Amino acid sequence: MTRVRFAPAPTGFLHIGGARTYIFNWLFARQHGGQVVLRIDDTDRDRSTDEALDSILDGLHWLDMPWDEMHRQSERRAKHLEAAQSLLASGAAYRDFTPARSPSETKSADASGAWLCNPGMRDIPKDESDRRASAGEPHALRFRVPRASGRIVEFRDHVYRKQTRKIADIEDFALLRSDGSPTYHLASTVDDAELKISHVIRGQDHLTNTFKHILLFEALGVPQPEFAHLPLLLGPDGSKLSKRKHGPVVSVTTYRDGGFLPHGLVNYLCLLGWSPKDGRELLTRRQLLELFDLGGINRANAVVTFEEDSDENWADPKALWINGQQLRTVPLQDLMPAVEQELRAAGWWQPAYEDERREWLASTVDLLRSRFTTLKDFTLRGAAYFSDSFPIEPKALKNMDKAGARELLRALGDRLDRLADFSPENVEAELRSLAEEREVKAGLIINASRAALSGQPVGPSAFAIFGTLGRQRVVERLRNL
Ligand code: GLU
Repeated sequence: MTRVRFAPAPTGFLHIGGARTYIFNWLFARQHGGQVVLRIDDTDRDRSTDEALDSILDGLHWLDMPWDEMHRQSERRAKHLEAAQSLLASGAAYRDFTPARSPSETKSADASGAWLCNPGMRDIPKDESDRRASAGEPHALRFRVPRASGRIVEFRDHVYRKQTRKIADIEDFALLRSDGSPTYHLASTVDDAELKISHVIRGQDHLTNTFKHILLFEALGVPQPEFAHLPLLLGPDGSKLSKRKHGPVVSVTTYRDGGFLPHGLVNYLCLLGWSPKDGRELLTRRQLLELFDLGGINRANAVVTFEEDSDENWADPKALWINGQQLRTVPLQDLMPAVEQELRAAGWWQPAYEDERREWLASTVDLLRSRFTTLKDFTLRGAAYFSDSFPIEPKALKNMDKAGARELLRALGDRLDRLADFSPENVEAELRSLAEEREVKAGLIINASRAALSGQPVGPSAFAIFGTLGRQRVVERLRNL
């Protein structure tokens, strides 16, 4: 049975790198009819918070890729301690009574090469170790790296291929801290084994930890999972993508709040470090499930480009492009709830949209979406369709201020008011005959109408706008210029 896990520490928001790790785990599990375990690595009590956990869960829920099981690592402590005891009993671990060192002492110990173990501690006889422990002497528990074997620890990573490390280069890492709390290495390995994880798919920053985990799996006498490490995400400056350095663009909720469709972000994140063989960039959920493969993941780190302080390119232009494409290709009925939420948040939702104006709403959304990038556009660039108070963009204003344009629009308003039948053909004929009479190009009136009616210099055809807004709103807007 394929079982994967995503193991965030609840110490902050959901990072897009974490989201990508989750998505890759999810796709891999679903492709293999397997299960996804969400493991909350909350053993660091000082840094773990409920708010961080909530925000991670919020972000994951929004991605709409449900997990099958959830565990909190803190609730599994007894298992970790039990494993520690058995490692101590078998001699695979030993107590280290070295008093906690200051950072400068650690530095000089590292420089002298003593970092592999605290000299003397590995060889304390069992009875002396037991005696000192029962006398209450504080100690950590360390893994006794079987260094004498001289072996090479190796594994085959699904992404980074063959990985090797001389056992002589692995330090006697801690399993329990001197306060008795399990370390990440112990807790993670015990949980991966107990929860029967078949594939560990995680960030490349954990690659070197894997050698230690392999030694632990061996010492615990449990089967090891397979490993796939994912390339890092870098910011435009080439440094590791982090909230501290790169700001809100690193957080999943920024995309949600910025009007991304969940699948728009999922599609984009999948392309950070992976691409299908045919190089396609727009992929549905179903296509991702069909095409995703661990072997197709790149080893090169992926760069997220964006411009700080830019309204337009606040996210990677590729992400925005993908979201725009998804916006115009998702089945309309799947888009409507998200648009409804946007309109409600703006205070523009009308009960009639659930009733006699339902079709109008759907066709207007369909008309608008082909030019939009995010859901926010429905209340920004699309304001004129859902509200009678809307801003006119400076470029649109220019089209309205061309010689005589306003007067022409008012005249058009009067004529359209008198039109017997407000059909698209009649509206167009009326506009063209006005242009002919006044000896101006029809394009002048068309562009000025679009600007005045929608506040936008570009957008749907002016005739589509007339039809969508309907006679009453068109006439009112043109007359009141
Ligand atoms: N809690 C660890 C992290 O967030 C998990 C690493 C792992 O997947 O083993 O980095």
